[in-house]
Amino acid sequence: MASVAAEDLAPIIPAVSSRVSSGVYSGPVFDMARQQFDHVADHLQIPEEERQRIFMPKRAIAVSCPIHRDDGSVAVFNGYRVQHHLTLGPTKGGTRFSPSVDVGEVGALAIWMSWKCALVGLPYGGGKGGITVDPYSLSRRELEALSRRYMQEMIPFVGPQIDVMAPDMGTDETIMAWFMDTYSMYHGSTVTEIVTGKPVDCGGTLGRREATGRGVAYLIGRAMEIVGIDPTQSTAIIQGFGNVGAVTAIELLRRGVRVIGVSDHTAAYFDPRGLDVEALTAFVRDNRVLRRFSSETLIDAEEMLTRPCDVLVPAAMERAINANNAGQLQCRILAEGANGPTTPEADLILALRRDEIFLIPDILCNAGGVIVSYFEWVQDLQRFFWDEPEILDKLYRTLERALQRVLSRAALDGLSHRDAAMALGVETVRQAKATRGLFP
Ligand code: NAD
Repeated sequence: MASVAAEDLAPIIPAVSSRVSSGVYSGPVFDMARQQFDHVADHLQIPEEERQRIFMPKRAIAVSCPIHRDDGSVAVFNGYRVQHHLTLGPTKGGTRFSPSVDVGEVGALAIWMSWKCALVGLPYGGGKGGITVDPYSLSRRELEALSRRYMQEMIPFVGPQIDVMAPDMGTDETIMAWFMDTYSMYHGSTVTEIVTGKPVDCGGTLGRREATGRGVAYLIGRAMEIVGIDPTQSTAIIQGFGNVGAVTAIELLRRGVRVIGVSDHTAAYFDPRGLDVEALTAFVRDNRVLRRFSSETLIDAEEMLTRPCDVLVPAAMERAINANNAGQLQCRILAEGANGPTTPEADLILALRRDEIFLIPDILCNAGGVIVSYFEWVQDLQRFFWDEPEILDKLYRTLERALQRVLSRAALDGLSHRDAAMALGVETVRQAKATRGLFP
C-alpha cells in the first residue's frame, strides 16, 4: 500500500479544538491523547460539557530536583507527576526518566493509564511521572541521588492510597527500591506498598519484571490463533530492547517464534534466519545498549519497521508508527508493547488495512505490567505473598477477559480494536464519575 502523507489526512483527523483549554499540558503526545479521546467520545456521544471533566487530569505536580554531580557541581533536573483521576481508587502508573519528559507527555501517559486500568478492571485511576534526564548520562551514584531526591519531593503528593508509582522507560527495580526506601525512611517504617516493580527481596512480587513482556507475548499468541498463524513458522520484529522489548523477545522465542529484527536507540539488527536473542540479552545486560553487538546484521532502524514479518512489536517510545510508515508495514499482527506508539494519522491508515493487520492496542497489549503491579500492591497491603504459577494464572485470565471484551465490542459496534478498548475504558470512568459526583 502506498504511503499517505500527514497533510493528506489532516482534513479527516479531528484537530485539537482551540476552544478546549489544555491548561499546562501541551505537545504532540498530549494532543494525540486528546484526539483519541475525542474520537471515542464522539462514538459514545458524550456531550461536550462532560468531556473536559472526564479527560483532563486532576493534578499536575512539577518539582526541581537538585543533585551533586560526581565532579562536585550541582545540577538541577525537572520532575513531574500527573494524577488523572481518583474516582476508582488511588492513581497508578510508571515513572519515566527520559530527555523527552515534559508535563504534556506525562499527562498523556497518565490518561492512557486510566483507560487501561478501567479496561482490565483494576481499582485505579491513571498516574504517570518522570524526570527530564538521559539516565544513560548519569553515574550510578548520581542516578540514586536523583531518584531519591525526586521521591523526597513527591512525598506530600503520593501514598499507598493516593498514588502508587512503578517503573517505566529509563527506570527499573533498583530505582523503585530507592523510591520505597526514601518514602519509608520519611515515614519511620517500611512501606512496601508505596511503589510496585520493586525487587522481590524488598517486597516486590514474583513475575513483575517480566509481566509486561509476558502479557504482550500471551496476546500475540492469542492473535496468532485467531488469524491462523503457526508460531513455530512465524517471525517477529521488535523495536526497543529494554524491559518490555527484551522480555517479549525471550517469551516469543520460547513459543517457537523466530525473532528476526530488534533495535534500541543506539542500533538496529536484522537477520531473516533469526537473531540470537539470548546473546542480545546478555550483551545488553553487560553493556546497557545494543551498540556494537554485531556489524554484520546492522540495519537502518526505520527501515527495520517495514520489513516483512508476522509480528511487529513497537516497544520503545510514542509515535513510532506514523503516517509515513503505516502504509508500508508488512506485518500481520501489530502488538503495541509501548504506550502510544501509533499516531491518530497512522490509525486511519491501519483502519483501512484492518483485514490485513490485526492490531493489539497498547492499553490492552502492555496491560500485563499494571496487572501484576496491582497484584504486588495487594500482596504488600496484606503482607501475604503468592507463588509464581498463581500470579501467572491470574495475569493471563485477566488479559483473556479484557481481550474477549475488546473483540466482542469491536464486532458489536464495528469498531477498530483500539476504539473498542478505549470505549470500554472511557465508559467505566465516565460511569463512576457520573455515580460519585464532581469531587474525585
Ligand atoms: P526501558 O527503558 O526498559 O527500555 C526502553 C527501550 O527503548 C530501550 O531499549 C531504549 O534504547 C529503546 N528506545 C528508546 N528510544 C528509542 C528509539 N528512538 N528507537 C528505538 N528504540 C528506542 O523501557 P520499558 O520499560 O521497556 O518501556 C518501553 C515502553 O513500554 C514505553 O512506552 C513504556 O511506557 C511502555 N510500558 C512499559 C511497562 C513496564 O512495565 N516497564 C509497562 C507498560 C508499558
